[in-house]
Amino acid sequence: MHGGSGPVVLGHANLAVDSAARDAASRLGLPGVVRTDIEVELAETLVESIPSFDSVLFCSSGSEATYHAIRLARAVTGRRKLLKVEGGYHGWHDSVAVGFLKGDLTPMSAGALDDVVKQTITVPFNDRDGLLGYMNEWGGETAAFILEPIMHNIGVILPDPGYLELVRSECSRWGIVLIFDEVVSGVRHGVGGFQEISGVTPDLSVFGKALANGYPIAALGGRGDLMDNFSTGGGTVLFLGTYNGHPGSVAAALTTVAIRKDPQSTLHLEKMGESLAIGWRDLIGQFDLPWTVVRFGSIVALYASHKPPNNQSEALDSSPEVVAACRESMARYGVFENARPLARSCVSLAHTESDIERVLEAAEMSLKEPLNIWMEL
Ligand code: PLP
Repeated sequence: MHGGSGPVVLGHANLAVDSAARDAASRLGLPGVVRTDIEVELAETLVESIPSFDSVLFCSSGSEATYHAIRLARAVTGRRKLLKVEGGYHGWHDSVAVGFLKGDLTPMSAGALDDVVKQTITVPFNDRDGLLGYMNEWGGETAAFILEPIMHNIGVILPDPGYLELVRSECSRWGIVLIFDEVVSGVRHGVGGFQEISGVTPDLSVFGKALANGYPIAALGGRGDLMDNFSTGGGTVLFLGTYNGHPGSVAAALTTVAIRKDPQSTLHLEKMGESLAIGWRDLIGQFDLPWTVVRFGSIVALYASHKPPNNQSEALDSSPEVVAACRESMARYGVFENARPLARSCVSLAHTESDIERVLEAAEMSLKEPLNIWMEL
């Protein structure tokens, strides 16, 4: 249920993906030289499927892709400030590795450069007034707003109706580059990402994780007039990387995307996700816990609160350690869950109803066993 923190949307060691990667590695063994035919094919497939993509570039990880997106936004706007959402995780680099699982802007890493960190400002998710207040103060100095359109790094937090539309219109009004980080949601919730589901189109977006079912690749795409500024198209914004467009990962991505395009795969993920959420709700009722289950598609999150949180501070108020303790203890009954506080369960296409039953049995055993420990927390 860990799913590698999200990538493994088809299940581990998917035969079709693995054999496509092996075949490409043996046919196209010169990474870092030129574009391959399959890289072009993947680019064309994504441009067809993802609303914001006029063109796309590939690199090896989500962090690299968000780094390039933010540097591009700074280059084209000539501005320095970056807006992000509290609780959003967008990778390990200095501009974004702040404001995660804490109520302030403490950098996640020692050695982060103050000059970079202080350009980043956060607003709470779903807070319309907070967003408008920020824009009035800093809108004209902000290069980019980066956010997960559905927050998965703190479980499952859905945008309120109209929130993403407001984000979109404010970014357009102030000339800010809107970046959707779909590293978790992209391909998992559909090849078009959450942008297709919500109908809100960003200027740039980043896909990774489930794009290749666990092989290292990320895609950065968006408006052609922005993307043309990258050095790959003759512009001044550097885009390099020896392993960019690595044939093995590209082949894995082409195969994963083809499988995810089949509507049956979405139906199955939806069904397994629903069974898991229903099972958890039953257990919560049975044990009379003040917990809430939130699900979107194949991702399920639990909060020790009566109502779904709307932002990071509500999520942190929901005693995430209690749920994490339960998820950790499930390992003793054969179920591997991500036990970081506010982590999520990731169902895959390989899961069956009987797997979900096993997960729920492990949950029940865990709930029975350490109940007294949790009640004391
Ligand atoms: N963006 C989001 C939403 C993520 O969840 C992650 C990783 O967890 C990243 C970016 C960074 O991706 P990577 O770990 O591939 O660098």
